Amino acid sequence: MSKVIKKAYAEEMKQGYNLRTAMEEASRCLLCHDAPCSKSCPAKTDPAKFIRSLRFRNIKGAAETIRENNPLAGCCAEVCPYGQLCEQACSRTGIDKPIEIGKLQKFLVEMEKREGMEFLHVEEKRDGKIACVGAGPASLACARELALFGYDVTIYESNEKAGGVLTYGIVPSRLPQEVVDFDIATIEKLGVTFKFNETIDAARLEELKAEYDAVFVGTGLWKSKVIDIPGKDLDGVVSAIDFLKDARLNKENMTLGDTVLVIGGGDVAMDCVTTAKQLGAKATIVYRRTIEEAPADIDEVMAVQSMGIPIIQEFAPGEIIGSKGHVTAMKFNGRDNESELTMKADQVVFAIGQAACDTTKDIKAGGKVFTGGDMVNGGKTVVQAVAEGKDAAAMIAAYLNK
Ligand SMILES: Cc1cc2nc3c(=O)[nH]c(=O)nc-3n(C[C@H](O)[C@H](O)[C@H](O)COP(=O)(O)OP(=O)(O)OC[C@H]3O[C@@H](n4cnc5c(N)ncnc54)[C@H](O)[C@@H]3O)c2cc1C
Ligand code: SF4
Repeated sequence: MSKVIKKAYAEEMKQGYNLRTAMEEASRCLLCHDAPCSKSCPAKTDPAKFIRSLRFRNIKGAAETIRENNPLAGCCAEVCPYGQLCEQACSRTGIDKPIEIGKLQKFLVEMEKREGMEFLHVEEKRDGKIACVGAGPASLACARELALFGYDVTIYESNEKAGGVLTYGIVPSRLPQEVVDFDIATIEKLGVTFKFNETIDAARLEELKAEYDAVFVGTGLWKSKVIDIPGKDLDGVVSAIDFLKDARLNKENMTLGDTVLVIGGGDVAMDCVTTAKQLGAKATIVYRRTIEEAPADIDEVMAVQSMGIPIIQEFAPGEIIGSKGHVTAMKFNGRDNESELTMKADQVVFAIGQAACDTTKDIKAGGKVFTGGDMVNGGKTVVQAVAEGKDAAAMIAAYLNK
């Protein structure tokens, strides 16, 4: 595996702004009244306000607006689907092209980090202890808001690091770990306690309910769906989330086949196939419909195509073939019910959807239990999980003050 390929996996691909280019971009903003960009951000990051500050050279004020409104400002700047949210709504689109809101946000979060700006302070401590289960975007946002309100917050997390999908799923070339760590550090500084390597099940949840005044559960979707076909239990057949986690944790020591088939047509499938390719495998996507019908973001599909990765369309999994317990090939059936395809494979990655884990799938909101993020909305975006975490914090504060 060459160093160049590993660099492609580990290093961010996006080019950012500098002060001059950021100011130029901000000067295109129409300073709209009742700005559509701000109305379309689920987390209420308020782009119109921060772009206005930037335009008047108030860098600190612009960075402050972002951090105060969005606890995961750095991560959202990297991975938000702006094209479907703020940038799609931007009034400038009708004139020429939308303001590059995501890139401006990225620039301002970088300035915040570089200049050591600190905006968040707990004004007054309040009585009330809250447990947050899971350390993904929903729980982190909920914990940050509650800590700012002055409450005592503890996060319980199965993994050994915080971030959820940000740390264990999304490819680092799209979301560098230092961006995730910086956002999390701003939350830790408020005194939020993290307890790692602890999986909360129904019995432990009852204990947390007795110990804390309120409990937020934001445990996401960590059980991968598999198709029940012959050969699914062979060595070398893995789930998307296990594959991505292995890549992020073990890097060059991960289990990677020479020939990897990724099954699926969503963003997660695109992340798996780029990971496999960037780490040195011969990687291919196989999807049961046409790529136009696929749920993946068009930019992600284009990124995959630009890397020269083949996308086989309209073939559904039929059987996985193995030798001595390990996968060697996979058979597919054509959508036309006539064609068949057999492809060589050392590794098959199923990226066909996620579900809640058995430990948390039956947890429902009610009483002193609040929920949010992927486990409730069925799997959306980071910014949606942040929004739901913020909303839950407001509900918890209202519940504690009733
Ligand atoms: C590969 C991949 C790529 C994605 N790319 C994008 C993207 O580019 N842009 C975008 O906006 N969204 C993307 N998403 C979606 C986005 O990551 C999620 O919507 C978001 O992370 C949901 O946040 P969450 O807090 O609800 O859950 P998660 O991020 O899943 O976090 C849940 C946390 O809970 C922990 N946990 C689970 N069960 C327990 C338990 N019983 N006890 C204790 N802790 C537990 C988990 O370990 C995890 O840390 C992607 C998702 C995946 C899988
Ligand atoms: S919608 Fe576009 S032009 Fe209007 S305030 Fe927002 S970024 Fe500026």
